[in-house]
Amino acid sequence: MGLLTDGQPLSWDETKKLSNHVRKHGIIQFINLYKKLRDRQGDVLKWGDEVEYMIVKFDDEKKTAKISLRSREVLEKLNEKELADPKGVKSLWRPEFGAYMIEGTPGRPYGGLLAHFNVVEANMRYRRQEAMELLKPGEVIISFTNFPRLGCPDSTVPASIPTPNRGYQQSLFLADDVVYSGHPRFKTLATNIRQRRGEKVAINVPIYRDVNVPKPFKENLAEFGDDGKSQNVAKDDHIYMDAMAFGMGCCCLQVTFQASNIREARTLYDQLTPLCPIMLALSAASPIYRGYLSDTDCRWSIIGHSVDCRTPGERGLEPLKDNEIRIRTSRYSAIESYLSENGDKYNDIPLVYDEEVYNQLLDNGIDRLLAQHVAHLFIRDCVCLMSTQLNQNDETDTDHFENIQSTNWQSMRFKPPPPNSPIGWRVEFRPCDIQMTDFENAAIVCFIVLLSRVILSYNLNLLIPISKVEENMTRAQKRDAVNGEKFWFRKDIASDSKQGESVDDEYCELTVNEIINGKDGLFVGLIPLMNSYLNSMNVDADTHCTVQRYLKLIQKRASGELMTTAKWLRKQVTNHPDYKQDSIITQRINYDILKNVNDIQMGIKSCPELHGCCTTSKTTEKIPTAIANAEK
Ligand code: ADP
Ligand code: MG
Ligand code: MG
Ligand code: MG
Repeated sequence: MGLLTDGQPLSWDETKKLSNHVRKHGIIQFINLYKKLRDRQGDVLKWGDEVEYMIVKFDDEKKTAKISLRSREVLEKLNEKELADPKGVKSLWRPEFGAYMIEGTPGRPYGGLLAHFNVVEANMRYRRQEAMELLKPGEVIISFTNFPRLGCPDSTVPASIPTPNRGYQQSLFLADDVVYSGHPRFKTLATNIRQRRGEKVAINVPIYRDVNVPKPFKENLAEFGDDGKSQNVAKDDHIYMDAMAFGMGCCCLQVTFQASNIREARTLYDQLTPLCPIMLALSAASPIYRGYLSDTDCRWSIIGHSVDCRTPGERGLEPLKDNEIRIRTSRYSAIESYLSENGDKYNDIPLVYDEEVYNQLLDNGIDRLLAQHVAHLFIRDCVCLMSTQLNQNDETDTDHFENIQSTNWQSMRFKPPPPNSPIGWRVEFRPCDIQMTDFENAAIVCFIVLLSRVILSYNLNLLIPISKVEENMTRAQKRDAVNGEKFWFRKDIASDSKQGESVDDEYCELTVNEIINGKDGLFVGLIPLMNSYLNSMNVDADTHCTVQRYLKLIQKRASGELMTTAKWLRKQVTNHPDYKQDSIITQRINYDILKNVNDIQMGIKSCPELHGCCTTSKTTEKIPTAIANAEK
């Protein structure tokens, strides 16, 4: 998301009335954009990462770690450089949902040279240091998926008090002060999602059943000021959360690539889709919620529930009212349809969309697959509308389209070119939990980008029925899914369907290890394929070395030789001297964990069980000219 639109947000009642207006013009804007840009050709590979960080404040005397609600101040400073020299900065900084979060991206996207893999980590390091310079004593910046005691008493600086009966979130646990206040978008989303749903969001995460967890595990929510409504939806043996910030307050890692044309973008969108659950399992880094150890390793479904604005009718709990339709998923979810011609026969989830919108798209020359994709995005209401955004020129603006697009938070995003820009058709890969170190984040990002090159060069086909990918997303979030689960995966990725073979014969269940490293006689393995691709390329020695370290990390995570962050965090808790086998993360346990997190990411402590022996790469800030020339 670029810089945010100015203006005053409209109330939910006004926004709701204008939702059809936004949809109507959003579709026209998409049609106009498509007509202008469908034939755009020859864009080169460009790509960039997004890393989200949180600001944490330690009190080393009291042994506490709290989130510091200072991102607005820090961002104002970080943005000064960009405002002064928008093209020259090495990093760009944007707000995120949490008042303790910031998002950093490289100043400019990377290009197609392999040597770019060697600058990613150095840029991430630069960003971290740049933000660190603006901190106050005791504060640190960490790239960490979820603050373990988010929503526990006494966990913010400055102190904040929840307001269960008023405000945007009306949470029993979290004050609205944890929501970023520098732009009205975030609080407006929280308010409108709650109002559209007709009640607060409800997130129930299974608790980790350690020996001293009460049976059943059930909190008395009246003690937090509940009038009974929360107690009604809180499930036994689950950690209950009731606000958007519990999900959108999590940090993640995203990568966006530019494709050479719309066709290639659609292919990449599809081909990377089956990788989403695999990368979710490998990046799992968030087993703790609201001060309790959970039985889940990733943030994914927590965010899904945290922005689930569907009414009870749409969720299938009550009869449908007015013009409602049943909707299977939250607006934050895994994608439900493929976009490329090859993907068509694997689209086995019935998509809901408005027939009229779909036909309008078809009538304007948009093919069935793209039309159903866009029409499906447009089943959602607009949940944040600024007064200044209302009337637009549909020939040149795309704000209404982007409004709906950017509040469909899915595992993959198909991004059309912005109007009048040099930017082409892009695809975004969005499932991963964020990792603690720049080394790990760079490894994941480079792995995905490199894999996308291998897919295109070797013309690979990873497609399986989309319902199977969805099932994999659920499996990926289970505790220790990397070692304990199997995933549906295509058996023969080197060829398309064989004559007479049914789709259901094309896939089988494999472990993450088998998918990444291969299984004799059954599956080649993604990394062996990536290595044969690299061997056919002219790679300079430093880049080669860096990429090999990244691939080794992924290989060892996949094989279980190295732990996922989630597994390591579980061990941090269960081995802590204060831990009472009750799944409770006390202030002290939280403090000690976050101290370790900070020491590890700063390189003060090593952590061989997470990283192995090689944690440094040959990363540099700039590609040496000789290498760039040689590669060209
Ligand atoms: P959003 O939050 O909507 O996903 P951001 O602007 O935060 O978008 O991040 C977009 C990412 O895309 C950044 O990593 C940026 O470096 C990268 N990027 C920018 N321009 C291009 C481009 N032309 N092609 C591919 N990626 C790009
Ligand atoms: Mg962004
Ligand atoms: Mg973000
Ligand atoms: Mg993004």
